[in-house]
Amino acid sequence: MSQHFDAIIIGTGQAGPSLAARFSAAGMAVAIIERHKFGGTCVNTGCFPTKTMVASAYAAHVARRGAEFGFDVKGDVRLDMKRVKARKDEISGRSSRGVEEWLRGLKNCTVIQGHARFQSSRTVVVNDKVLQADKIYINVGGRASIPDMPGIHDVPFLTNSSIMAIDFLPEHFIIVGGSYVGLEFAQIYRRFGSEITIVEMGPRLIGREDEDVSQAVREILEAEGIHIRLNAKCISLAKRDGGVAVGLTCEEGPPEVIGTHVLLAVGRSPNTSDLGLDRAGVVTNQRGYITVDDQLQTNVPGIWALGDCNGRGAFTHTSYNDYEIVADNLFNADHRRVSDRIQAYALYTDPPLGRCGMTDAEIRKSGRAALATKYPMSRVSRAVEKAETQGFIKIAVDAETKQILGAAILGTGGDEVVHVLLDIMYAKAPYTVVQRAMHIHPTVAEYLPTVLSQLEPFA
Ligand SMILES: Cc1cc2nc3c(=O)[nH]c(=O)nc-3n(C[C@H](O)[C@H](O)[C@H](O)COP(=O)(O)OP(=O)(O)OC[C@H]3O[C@@H](n4cnc5c(N)ncnc54)[C@H](O)[C@@H]3O)c2cc1C
Repeated sequence: MSQHFDAIIIGTGQAGPSLAARFSAAGMAVAIIERHKFGGTCVNTGCFPTKTMVASAYAAHVARRGAEFGFDVKGDVRLDMKRVKARKDEISGRSSRGVEEWLRGLKNCTVIQGHARFQSSRTVVVNDKVLQADKIYINVGGRASIPDMPGIHDVPFLTNSSIMAIDFLPEHFIIVGGSYVGLEFAQIYRRFGSEITIVEMGPRLIGREDEDVSQAVREILEAEGIHIRLNAKCISLAKRDGGVAVGLTCEEGPPEVIGTHVLLAVGRSPNTSDLGLDRAGVVTNQRGYITVDDQLQTNVPGIWALGDCNGRGAFTHTSYNDYEIVADNLFNADHRRVSDRIQAYALYTDPPLGRCGMTDAEIRKSGRAALATKYPMSRVSRAVEKAETQGFIKIAVDAETKQILGAAILGTGGDEVVHVLLDIMYAKAPYTVVQRAMHIHPTVAEYLPTVLSQLEPFA
């Protein structure tokens, strides 16, 4: 016996639950399936828990700098990792429960726990239930990639998921991967009190960013005592002295680093290999990401893929935006497209990096005539008042249209301030609009007109 629905949603990440609510509100029967924790990566092993840890780490960091702000802390600042974890678990758990309760409370919505697999392009099997619908939405997200490096099966290692269970301080934490996830954990655990070594295969950290951004982030981390080993071309793992040895290179520098624990943060893989996509005829690319069109439909009419599993974004906001695109096309006849969105994200080191639009390398490649400007945070009075003067603001604009092409704000509040520029970009308005607005003092944003008054030909 099969059950028929108007829509089936696989996964309760950042797109699925909102979409279920839209079907529910429209009076349509929807089934939503989750195999693990409600809310997916962001809520359980990504954004929420890491940002609670960033907050604990920041509080400890400020406490250690107490003398600068006019107070003394008696003795060392030590974190009670059990309490740090309890705070994280409480915030993340509350959110996961909230998603589950929300879904269970929706009219016309059937919540099913279990692993979903396609049986055909219109049929999904969960446990022993057979579900059918003419519309199926895949929101299965991704997981940490585990590269097939030498020694990987001989040594215990942590990922962004398993690290959520630890309530102790690793003595010397080796973080393999110098990109967004690795850098956040590196600074968090350094501030918690671990010795940290970041091991990165490439010639610089966060290799997708401009070189000056990579370099500045590196200096910020090194100033906190984090060791960074770049160009680690031949990474391997082995047991050593009750800990772990990470082999680094075949050519230069000390051949290995020895630590007590290893975190693998070397990228993400989509959860698509165990979905039975072949039975539905749904096509993926070589890396397993589901191929979608500009409105997120797969090659099979009636099946859509949203969020990280489609490879068109790797953020909570891109997944939520996927939901908006699909829902607006479906319910509002508003033909939104993925290609309408402007790249935007943040790196939650302290200070954070807020990014929107093109990098310098992308602007150069585009061949456009551009103007650019860069302004140190040390000249932003709010940053000086907070004693958080690391980083800079840099903005590039199109020389002809005066529209903003891209920005990087590495500095206190950078993750928030960047939205001023992002919204102007969506408005397709010239940067001069920002200059004519009156901003609030004292803020970082109030400096944007000043920064923009110093535009010079882009080099
Ligand atoms: C450490 C870390 C920090 C991050 N920090 C940020 C941040 O600060 N800001 C940001 O924007 N992004 C951040 N991200 C990325 C963000 O978490 C993801 O982009 C986002 O969660 C993607 O959501 P999604 O909707 O694609 O699916 P997910 O949230 O991954 O959810 C997919 C769900 O589908 C379920 N599922 C999978 N397969 C099946 C199946 N066959 N049957 C049933 N259920 C299934 C899974 O159990 C999961 O619950 C971070 C990621 C990590 C790892």
